[in-house]
Amino acid sequence: MSALVRRLIDRWRKTPQGEPKIKKGLPFTRLKHTEEMFFETEFFKYNAKPQYLIHYWLEQQGLTKTPKWSCTCPDFVNRKGPQHKMCKHCQAVAMLARANTSPFIAKHLRVLTKDIYYKMIAMPIGQPLPILPNGAPTKRLRITIADSEPGYIAYISRRFICYTCGGPAGVQYLKGRQCKHIACYSKSLNDDDYKQYCHIMPTNMFRTAVQQQQRNTKTAWQRF
Ligand SMILES: [Zn+2]
Ligand SMILES: [Zn+2]
Repeated sequence: MSALVRRLIDRWRKTPQGEPKIKKGLPFTRLKHTEEMFFETEFFKYNAKPQYLIHYWLEQQGLTKTPKWSCTCPDFVNRKGPQHKMCKHCQAVAMLARANTSPFIAKHLRVLTKDIYYKMIAMPIGQPLPILPNGAPTKRLRITIADSEPGYIAYISRRFICYTCGGPAGVQYLKGRQCKHIACYSKSLNDDDYKQYCHIMPTNMFRTAVQQQQRNTKTAWQRF
């Protein structure tokens, strides 16, 4: 495919825009007055998964405490992390924590409680979309994880979709992978603790809620 055609397709797909202010590849940085913090990020440019989780903490090494970072993005896991370098998500978190932020960062990052971070990191976020056993009925659910914007997911014709993360038809931006809402539902199938976040909805109420969320431009993909 030529570069021109690829650019046209990207424009047509409304590729999410990045934030040029975020530097990449800096060494692990220290956050002042903070021992530990937890964050989530949604839809950075070229995201391989719908959401990433970021953790900052201090680790005692001899007499000093050393700053440590982790992010669930492939760049961090495969490259930056082993070299003790910041990926763009860690860097964006550091900017947010230092109030050196931008509308892009404010839109895409959120502080999590420790409890919710560990609940989310146990979910299969970014894993391929699950297929339920043959004959599983159509489902429509609202997934509300702590105080975040609810996610509206459905299982229709043997396929999971999320209207909150996936785009107008619920699929495009998932790229075949589980967003936190679908991942939360998957997890609830074998861990009762996650059932508290999942609420089955009647079709008409579900449709109204999806339309309302889109009208209020509260979906993750409308933040691009
Ligand atoms: Zn990252
Ligand atoms: Zn979702």
